[in-house]
Amino acid sequence: MAGQEQQHQRRRVVVLFSLPFQGHLNPMLKLASLLHTRGLGVTVLHTDFNAPDPARHPAGLAFVPIHETLPGEATSPDSNILTKLLALNAACDAPFRHALASLLRARHRDDDDVACAVVDGQCFAAMRAAGELGVPVLALRTDSAAAFRKMLAIPRLRDAGYIPIKGNKKEKLDEPMPEFEPLRVRDLIRVEGSDTDEICSFVASVADAVRATVSGIVLNTFEAVEASELSKLQSELSLPAFAVGPLHLLSSSSSQAPAEAEQSVHEPDRGCLPWLDDGHPPRSVIYVSLGSLACVDRVVFDEMAWGLARSGVPFLWVVRPGSITGVGEDDGEAPPPLPEGFEEETRGRGRVVKWAPQREVLAHASIGAFWTHCGWNSTLESVCEGVPMLVQPCFGDQMVTARYVTHEWGVGMEVGEVIERGRVAEAVAKMMVGEDGALMKERARHLKMEASAATGSAMDGLVRHILSL
Ligand code: UDP
Repeated sequence: MAGQEQQHQRRRVVVLFSLPFQGHLNPMLKLASLLHTRGLGVTVLHTDFNAPDPARHPAGLAFVPIHETLPGEATSPDSNILTKLLALNAACDAPFRHALASLLRARHRDDDDVACAVVDGQCFAAMRAAGELGVPVLALRTDSAAAFRKMLAIPRLRDAGYIPIKGNKKEKLDEPMPEFEPLRVRDLIRVEGSDTDEICSFVASVADAVRATVSGIVLNTFEAVEASELSKLQSELSLPAFAVGPLHLLSSSSSQAPAEAEQSVHEPDRGCLPWLDDGHPPRSVIYVSLGSLACVDRVVFDEMAWGLARSGVPFLWVVRPGSITGVGEDDGEAPPPLPEGFEEETRGRGRVVKWAPQREVLAHASIGAFWTHCGWNSTLESVCEGVPMLVQPCFGDQMVTARYVTHEWGVGMEVGEVIERGRVAEAVAKMMVGEDGALMKERARHLKMEASAATGSAMDGLVRHILSL
């Protein structure tokens, strides 16, 4: 009997679940492909909202919807990120639990055996549910190790009087945070419309779920950029941390992933690629995008526009529907109107799209810099293409990443504390044609080489860990 069991190898299956944000789905699905390539069974549980298209992923991946019911605030451009996260956690809790339990029952009858669940590191409800169902849990963080460390410290920083940040005094804001070098007080936290207690309670829910249920943290980062942060994180959490990034780079070299495996919540406007081909010298165009969630107010948006116009630099600008606070919520598909006269002023020199094929854009020879909100995926994508950055962080982990881009890796500079057209034009020109920009381009080229050298060894370690569970 024992011999028979030995002969009959059960397939180990990993169940993955991501919150339905672009910046979370991308790395989770890349991780799914990589685990599949390494011989593990993979089932992706997903929300109906922003559901992945199985046709864009390797044939062996199974996709199972959890059929959640989302309240309006989970997806409204009016909601801030914390409201969205709390609403998604509440809405996914029971459907995720139900879907995972069904899967466990079905697997019990099959030859498959669920080895573990890899759950979105912001979805404390799913981590807890998986733990309660007796499934080993790994948390996938889609931010950097530095940002995650800082997040976990938020309740402590509040108790120490750092948060909420009081007053607007520059000296106070610029005070260094020795424990979190190179961060300053001003990089600690910014979520408009949320109070510190709400934020601390969310952080406590994540931290409790991690401590109670998780057997390891998976991060889309790599040693060359975050070695010391990773080792601090491991010792603070007493958990193994697997730095398996840059996931988009490692998964694109995996043979089973289709060439166009990008999971996009909006249809990219591919017309910008021939436009980039067309007569733009190498490194002459600035690419501008604030990601899939960040909004700015109308005044800031107009200053960005007129700053770009004034800079004289060719640009490709992603203006997403809903990217100006309070504009366009009624018609989710229409991007906000550009300032009057802007298109005439920049005709032939700029292109505005609703959504870009960002990785291909960043890989294009004409792109000289990326004006970014410093979402972690965007930052990694820029690093991997050797494109220096102009940073305009908006909320959450973006301030931490922006600080690393500018002060730790030296591959970027701030657009400006205040977004004003004169300063914007100056920053764009400095980056594109100035000496500082040239230095940053050189450093970005080096960082790209380090990223390209990232191997799959952390992924091998992760697979070994999964098989040991
Ligand atoms: N993205 C894209 N086209 C766009 C803007 C963004 O494909 O026009 C992708 C980008 O490549 C990245 C993701 O959307 O993978 C955004 O994730 P990130 O973590 O940078 O920011 P978030 O949207 O979560 O704030």
